[in-house]
Order: sequence, then C-alpha cells, then structure tokens
Amino acid sequence: MDSTIFQSAIFPGRYIQGAGPINALPEWIGKFGTRAIIVAGKSAMKEIVPLLKNSGLHDAVFEAFNGECTEKEIDRLTAIARREQCDVAVALGGGKVIDTVKAVAHFTESRTIIVPTIASNDAPCSAISVIYTESGSFDHVLHLKQNPNLVLLDSEIIARAPVRLLIAGMGDALSTWFEADACFTASAQNEAGGHCTLSALALARLCYDTIIEYGSAAAESCRLKVVTPALEKVIEANTLMSGLGFESAGLASAHSIHNGLTQLAGTHSYFHGEKVAFGVLAGLFLANRPAKMIDEVYAFCQSVGLPVRLAQIGIIDPTEEDLYKVAAGACAPEESIWHEPSEITQKRVVESIRRADGYLKGK
Ligand SMILES: [Zn+2]
Repeated sequence: MDSTIFQSAIFPGRYIQGAGPINALPEWIGKFGTRAIIVAGKSAMKEIVPLLKNSGLHDAVFEAFNGECTEKEIDRLTAIARREQCDVAVALGGGKVIDTVKAVAHFTESRTIIVPTIASNDAPCSAISVIYTESGSFDHVLHLKQNPNLVLLDSEIIARAPVRLLIAGMGDALSTWFEADACFTASAQNEAGGHCTLSALALARLCYDTIIEYGSAAAESCRLKVVTPALEKVIEANTLMSGLGFESAGLASAHSIHNGLTQLAGTHSYFHGEKVAFGVLAGLFLANRPAKMIDEVYAFCQSVGLPVRLAQIGIIDPTEEDLYKVAAGACAPEESIWHEPSEITQKRVVESIRRADGYLKGK
C-alpha cells in the first residue's frame, strides 16, 4: 500500500500546558503504567529531579542523559529500561533528551511522556527522533511507531529557561507555515508519510500569526521570568502548532538551508532555530514572496532578536565556495528543499542566501 497518495496527519495522545502541571507527573505515570524510567538533562537533573523524588516517585528509575542523542545512548537506556522492567519512558529536558527517550520507548514498546524544560524546538509532539554520531554530527532520522502519549509542558519551567532558547524556538516555528505552504502547493509528502491536510496547513498558519503577534511580548516575559498570556501562546506555537505543522504538513527549503548552513563550522555554536530562521529568510527570495511579507518577516526577526545577517549565525565574509558548499548540502537528493514548488538550483540557493544577507543593508 502506498500511503503517499493519501492525506495523512499524526498527533500526540494528549497535550497539557500551563503553570504547574509537572506536579501531576506521578499521577500520569500511574495512569500509563507501573514503573517509569525518567531521563533528565543536566539542569533538570539538578533542579527538577529532587522535587520529583519527594513527590511519590520513589519507584522510578532516574537516569542522567549523556548529552547527545546517539545509538549508543539509546541502547544504554533501552537496556536499563528492560532490566528494570519499566513500561513508561519520561523525558525531562530539551530536544536531544526528548528524541532519545522517544527512541527508547519505541524499542521497549513503552508509553512515552515528554516534559520539555525549554521551548526551543518542535521535538516534543512528533514521532521522529534525530540521531547523531558520537562526534555530534547528524546521522539519520528514526521514524517511530507512534507520537508521544503525553506532552506535559510546565510554562513556569519554560519561563525560567534562558530567553535565547525561546527565541530560537520562534525561529523554528517561523519556518512552519512557509514550509507547509510549499508542501501544500506542490502536493509534496509530509513527515507523516502522506499529503498535507487542511488541518495541518491551518495550524501552521496559526503558528505564524501567533508568533508574529505575541513573539516580542513573550520574549519580554521570559526575560522577566514571568508567565503571561503572551508567553503561553508562544509556548503553544513553538511546541504544539509547530510540531503538528512540520510533521503533518511537511518540511521544505528552510530546514534544507539550515542543514546546508551546518556545513560551515562557524554555525555550529548557534541553535537549530536560529539557523532555521535564516533559512526562512533565504526561502523568502527562493520562493519569490511578496515584498510586504518579506518586510513583515524581517521586522519580526529584528523585534525578537532572531538573526537577519549571516554574520549573526557565525558566517563572516563567506566566499563563493563557502556558499556553494551550503547550497550543495541544501540541495542533496534526500533534502526537503525539493518540496518547494519553485525551480531549485544550487545557483538560485546561493543567490537567495546573498539577497537575504544583504536585504537590510539598503534600508
Ligand atoms: Zn526544526
């Protein structure tokens, strides 16, 4: 059966967001199974795990994440989960912890609970894990049997995280509608193995409208470490709308240009969402978007502090050869840039990157 001819959309089982729902985590673990393995990132291990240990989770197995989502780390945690007879896998941390735990749950056939501690990416809701090599470079994408059973997002935790992470999440969320629109127009395949549904396209648009309207107020809330309605809206956009949007509508040029940008070592210390945001800017020119829209996106990036120049993602005075290296990476045969309805060539990608980088110079 070739599912690519069907429209398809996939979702997490349940999504909970607000100030304080982490207190109900022991209860949720009890609803889903009998024993949990809880994998925590560095700061979660220090700040959240002690609280959980005092809240009735004595039976759970707590494991510190080793810092990278590799096959070795997945195997290590899978062995522990099997040995300790855990039937629930809980991720407490950022995107890499989340992707690792989703894979562990996949291999141990456990229920999955995702507790993101930052809103910098759209990993929490999806049925995809991005696997890296031991040296930290991209290895492959693992498609999982199902989306997480529960995504539990405590906005008080997100508000205490560094604001740059929330802003990076907005960069990732900024790409969602542009990529969805490209996939819908070109009838390209989404990440759920089918065609984009109207529902996913509408969510992607809502994602865009939400960050444009509330993005800078949300960043301000996060700087002040307070939960406000604007912050709640942007957390939902960065996590739920962006997650459902990218997975069930599809990816296109912004993520491919991101992948191409990672070919240049200077970009490695910048967040995924920051590089994706620059991919969106280049994509505006690649897709010949109207001037009004281009201005709106640049104004948004400047208002929240997302990059609008290559120098802001570590690329200073790139040579033609550097940019062709980026374009070659972006235009690899397996890349989602081919979902764009417009003509794609390496030369057009290089020109779009140059135009995006220079756009504000003349303003
Ligand atoms: Zn992304």
